[in-house]
Amino acid sequence: MAVSLKNAAELQKMYRAGQLLARVLDAVEAAVKPGVSTGQLDAMAQEMIEAAGARGAFKGYHGFPAVLCTSVNEAVVHGIPSMDQVLQQGDVVSVDCGVILEGFFADSARTIPVGEVDPEVKRLLEVTSTALEKAIAQCKPGGRLGNVGAAIGKVVGRSGFSLTEGYCGHGIGRQLHEDPAVPNEGRAGRGRRLQPGLVLAIEPMVNMGTGASKTLSDGWTVVTRDGRYAAHFEHTVAITPKGPWVLTQTAQTLTSGGPV
Ligand code: MG
Ligand code: MG
Repeated sequence: MAVSLKNAAELQKMYRAGQLLARVLDAVEAAVKPGVSTGQLDAMAQEMIEAAGARGAFKGYHGFPAVLCTSVNEAVVHGIPSMDQVLQQGDVVSVDCGVILEGFFADSARTIPVGEVDPEVKRLLEVTSTALEKAIAQCKPGGRLGNVGAAIGKVVGRSGFSLTEGYCGHGIGRQLHEDPAVPNEGRAGRGRRLQPGLVLAIEPMVNMGTGASKTLSDGWTVVTRDGRYAAHFEHTVAITPKGPWVLTQTAQTLTSGGPV
């Protein structure tokens, strides 16, 4: 698939999708506590998405049954929400959600601690979200796609944790997954030139132990092979003449340019 660059009007639509998604994830994060089930989180997200006139991008995608992926502890990605899966103190839940609004997709994920978690688990979450932040800072015109992966690889490499092998980010727009693939490692100065209008879903996935994973017999849930915890943070980021515009966060930070 060719890479599609978005014009200003299309970016505004993606921003509206992204802002809805940010509000959904903020609400889910606020609801996460011991005793809440991942099925309840999914029901809440679905209600918010539908009330906004949007649709969940994951529900029905290759038969996935929910609007959220909820991946608990050793689950990395693609976990299926269930009313029977009740979160416990010390767990972490990676919540991934996609929405489609006005014909455009947004995709974002964050790993949320359930109450107090082990300090090393807390560090895992910090490392993964810092890797995403550093990658976003590389999203400026004239840069290269390799700079994005290199930024993630650098943060994760010195942490003692491992990138989840075999998974990467992607372009996004009228399709949930567009070209280019956005690897979580790379060499600075290499790869496609980053142009204004390119929109990337950047999503570092980090394992506490080794990078190996496997898919469970439900056909979806990806877990670490060694059973240690994993984390996943993702934003949908537009490259603008002024720099990165993080479409899926509500409070814009210094690393973020736009709106264009
Ligand atoms: Mg996602
Ligand atoms: Mg994604």
